[in-house]
Amino acid sequence: MRDIDSSDIARLTRRLILQAEFDIPEDVREALMRARSEETSAHAKFALDQIIENQEIAATERTPICQDTGMIVIFAEIGQDAHITGGNFEQAIQDGVRAAFADGYLRASVVDDPLFDRVNTRDNSPGVIHARIVPGEGVRLLVTPKGFGSENMSRVRMLTPSSGVDGVLDFIVDTAKLAGSNPCPPTIIGVGIGGTLEQCALIAKRMTARPLGKPNSDARYAALEAECLRRINSLNIGAAGFGGSCTALAVHIDHAPTHIAGLPVAVNMCCHAARHAEGML
Ligand code: SF4
Repeated sequence: MRDIDSSDIARLTRRLILQAEFDIPEDVREALMRARSEETSAHAKFALDQIIENQEIAATERTPICQDTGMIVIFAEIGQDAHITGGNFEQAIQDGVRAAFADGYLRASVVDDPLFDRVNTRDNSPGVIHARIVPGEGVRLLVTPKGFGSENMSRVRMLTPSSGVDGVLDFIVDTAKLAGSNPCPPTIIGVGIGGTLEQCALIAKRMTARPLGKPNSDARYAALEAECLRRINSLNIGAAGFGGSCTALAVHIDHAPTHIAGLPVAVNMCCHAARHAEGML
């Protein structure tokens, strides 16, 4: 059993949020540079230049990559032999969210009641926490600030098994087509297949932060990722919707066992501000 003070969890949360908001991950930066070098459309090249330059300014001047600093989503893995002391875990995460948004002068983008009041909480709390108990005595956090230009373009569909591979493929490509320029392409498209309604959505969200350039280890799913990407990049939506060959940088799919009567599919769109940061205590 290892003691982990809740104040350290708050500090780690704060640090990871600020890192995610200011520093685009290296794999995303490299993918954008590659897209820029391969793009033939002049307008799309211009858009990619702007996106890359914006990210460089954010990193240098420690300003947010985007004015939409997002709703904070946190995937937490808590070791079953970790003992959290000095306060409760969820409170510590929310303290970290508040501290990051105050110290980083980040835009507060969360409202308390979604339907009636819609009053801004003014500190971007609460973050959305997805926690799992895992073997070990540490705590690992993956922080993903989620802008809603792309979140709003995401979809879940409860397909039936007879839809098959083609039904899944069409749903993923149609989601990107319907989204058009709204999710600020080039996007990273996370897909969850299987499980239940909420499980496939969680998988899709998690897949938006999978490292780029690492296809699914199952050759069948890797082929599906490649075919989705090929079809999506043939839609001529392009960077910022200016047309061109790069509408998505990647399609990342993961799957889970499901019911004999079901084939749930979730598609979570993530914009070119594909922000995430990971750390451990
Ligand atoms: S979708 Fe992404 S890039 Fe577009 S405004 Fe929102 S956070 Fe910014």
